[in-house]
Amino acid sequence: MKFWFAIPLWQRVIAALILGIITGFVWGPEAVAIKWIGDFFIASIKMLVVPLIFFSLVAGVASIGDLKKLGAVGGRAVILFLITGQIAVWLGLALGTLFKPGSTLDTSGIQTGAVPESNFTGWTDMIVQTVPDNPVRVMAEGAVLPLIVFALLIGIGILMAKKEGEPLISIFDSGAIVMQKVTAIVMELTPFGVFALIAWVTGTLGIDALAALGQMVLLNYLGCFLLIGIVYVGLLKFVAKVPVIAFFRGIADAIAVSYSTASSSATLPVTLRCLERNIGVGRSVSSFTASLGATINMDGTAMYLGLATLFGAQIFGVDLAFSDYILIAVTATLGSVGAAGIPGTGLIMMTLVMGSVGVPLETIAFVAGVDRIMDMMRTTTNVTSDSTIATTVAAMTGDLDRAELVSADDV
Ligand code: ASP
Repeated sequence: MKFWFAIPLWQRVIAALILGIITGFVWGPEAVAIKWIGDFFIASIKMLVVPLIFFSLVAGVASIGDLKKLGAVGGRAVILFLITGQIAVWLGLALGTLFKPGSTLDTSGIQTGAVPESNFTGWTDMIVQTVPDNPVRVMAEGAVLPLIVFALLIGIGILMAKKEGEPLISIFDSGAIVMQKVTAIVMELTPFGVFALIAWVTGTLGIDALAALGQMVLLNYLGCFLLIGIVYVGLLKFVAKVPVIAFFRGIADAIAVSYSTASSSATLPVTLRCLERNIGVGRSVSSFTASLGATINMDGTAMYLGLATLFGAQIFGVDLAFSDYILIAVTATLGSVGAAGIPGTGLIMMTLVMGSVGVPLETIAFVAGVDRIMDMMRTTTNVTSDSTIATTVAAMTGDLDRAELVSADDV
């Protein structure tokens, strides 16, 4: 027992990831027998999402101290979300144009999956849905975006109430600290959850499924690695000016959890913990930027939507003009903003992007079989982007405790 806890958590998690992959390949589809351990883990972190966002976001906003500073943090975060999102979509389009993953593919041997139903009802509805019409329902349903709006408003109210708002500040502060402790307990399940989930995914997919759509899967991974290796590393090195290796070691738990769960929302408690404890991002900036980012900043998804639409155009021989590329960029950006941070939403948003430029939705059936393995990498990219942007914003606004990052060796 003592030996177990002596190993830093992130090392235990990475070992679990590697062992899980090996187990999955050896065990094959039967590995589904241990999926329940992964489901148990996901349910445990999901439990944290609503109270954690609520307490730490309200406490975070209240601790910013004044509305001007809140605008400075929010404005910078949203601009960085937009810039990285655009780079991501155009990267996906560039990779699809350059490598033409669908042009030489023999689709006859691929097992197709079901095309998911789109629950997209229109942009105006999407805007209306950000209003927390009934805060209790929003919490009960775990609707993250309206919950963020509600928590922001309560935080702003506390700031406006000045002296009279102070008792609430201490309640929310204390709530946020308690939630961090509960997160620490749940985090101890990570190695087991990660092991089971990875074994299940590799066991179910196997090598055969991957081989048929190999080029598409590889391009998805390549795009994500380029985003992480160039865009985020660039931001960290040149704008935030933080040591890059120490940064990635600090968010290792969030990377492993996002990769195995394929859900930015479920990873959020872990992301927040890594940012605050290991990177030294101030709580107000981390809770604001990472919570919002987990819902609206999805670069991996945006990149993938661009790439997959070109893939569909290539297998079905649809000619696309440059104006179509622009349309794809716009709809993929909006689709990635609208996508919830749960497994497989990228696939659902594809209906929207493909529909806008006349690419047959049957494309989705082709990629559906291997979507999970791509979803895992997109989600890791999404979470890395949120963490990078939270760190960059904190560096810009003076909310980054650089000593914390350097001393994060023994997390
Ligand atoms: N699963 C992704 C996420 O949670 C979204 C997607 O499907 O691309 O970030």
